[in-house]
This record gives sequence, C-alpha cells and structure tokens, in this order.
Amino acid sequence: MKSYKEIERLAQQSGAALDYIGVTYLGYPIPLLTKGRGEGGVLLVGGVHAREYITSYLLFELMKEYCGEGRIDCVPALNIDGILLSRLGKKLFPKAQAAYRGLLEMNGGRDFAQWKANIRGVDLNTNFDAEWGTGLMNVRRPGAENYIGPFPESENETRAVVERLRKYPYDIVVAYHSKGEEIYFGFGEEFGNKHHAEKVADMLGYALKTSVGSAGGLKDYCVRCGTFGLTIEVGEDRFPHPYPMKELPRLINKHKGSLELFSTIGAQIAGRIYD
Ligand SMILES: [Zn+2]
Repeated sequence: MKSYKEIERLAQQSGAALDYIGVTYLGYPIPLLTKGRGEGGVLLVGGVHAREYITSYLLFELMKEYCGEGRIDCVPALNIDGILLSRLGKKLFPKAQAAYRGLLEMNGGRDFAQWKANIRGVDLNTNFDAEWGTGLMNVRRPGAENYIGPFPESENETRAVVERLRKYPYDIVVAYHSKGEEIYFGFGEEFGNKHHAEKVADMLGYALKTSVGSAGGLKDYCVRCGTFGLTIEVGEDRFPHPYPMKELPRLINKHKGSLELFSTIGAQIAGRIYD
C-alpha cells in the first residue's frame, strides 16, 4: 500500500461489508471486512509487521474471492502507519520533518524498507498481553523490530484488535506474516486443536511448528484466552523482505480455499458441525 486511498479502494473492491476497529497513531481508521453470517466464525489479521504488507494484498484478494456462508471477519492491514512508512519513507512526512528525523534516528539512519514496527517503533506482535516482555528477541527501546512497548496493549493497533476479540467470540483467529511457509500453533503449555492446525498445514503444504521463545504475539494472546489461534508465515524463504509483489499471484493461488477451511474448522470447534 502506497497510500491510505489504496487501502480504501481495495476494501471497496473486496465486496465485503466495511467497518473499522480503531484508529492508528497517524489517524487512519483500521478497516474490518466482513463476509458471511452467523455467530462465531473466523478473524483474519494481516499487515501486522510493516514490511510484510504482501499479507495485506493477499487478504484483500482472498476476501474478494470468498463466497462461503460462514462468517469471516478480516483486518487486512493492521499496521497501516508502519506499512506506509516502509513503502514511502520520507514522503510520508511532507510537512513533519522533525517526526521523520526522529524515526530515522530510531532506525540507525537506514531507509525503512525493512521496518517491521508501528510508527512509534513498537513491534505490534510483541505488544499483546501474553507473557509480555519474556520473549527471547524482545528489546526495550523503540526501533525497527522487537520493541515490546512501554506496557502491554500500549499501542492503538494492539488495543483495536483486543477490543474486537473481547466483544466478539471468534472460533478461530489467524495472523498473517511473511515468510517461510510455516504455521505456528499453541502457546505456553497449551497445544490443543493440533489436528485442526495439521489440516491447515496439509492444505497449504506448510510446516507445522510450535513457537519457542516468543511472547506477546496475537496468536499467543488468543491461545492464552482459550481461542484457537494460528500464525501463518506465507511465502518461500528464498525470497527477500519485503516479499516481491510479482509473487503475489502465486501466493493467492496457494491460499485459494483456505478461508473455507478456516470456516469449517471454526464451526467444528464451536460444535456446530462435527469432523
Ligand atoms: Zn511478521
């Protein structure tokens, strides 16, 4: 995404009902797309890490194609500010050079192509309230990645997702990252629903793993709250960050039908249908 307008256009084109779960630090409303109906259902979240914006494009496209009956909610681009920073750099701040200089300093003078955090230098996938601050890679000062924030849920984007989760009882939550063709499930001592995670891994041809040394992630938070959560690392490891846009059609093809599978798994977990 090179502008918020582009996000709005992609949201329109998805054909989904449009709502907002919160507002970013720079003031952009965070879109929530909904298709299907019924209780429970699926929540998909993409664009958590700025440079992984390919996951946002992937989710907009998968939502556009989805025509199942089960309810699917989708936040395709959670970290809008970070994504725009990663793509636009200095151009994001035509009138606020001081703000830009602060970020540049935070980033050690490098450009922002590899930036993962939000615009305040907080890594959103370490900012959730799940063993917050105990991750092996955690750092305690703002920067491009791994900064946990001053306290759990300190960031607008984190709070927006958490408030949604508290309001709405999802059966399954899937967080999208890139890259590595891996699926992570479970957290702490909790590794339930493994057979469901295996179904997703089989369908995508991705490796199923349990995360070691991670904390404060969205999936971690969901598991901690008793909701089935997955992290999917889309795309092959041989490609660089940011994942090349010319690979998007291949990713879309690979993930075709996965939303239908999530919907079925959600219904099985909720006991609406049996596997
Ligand atoms: Zn990521």
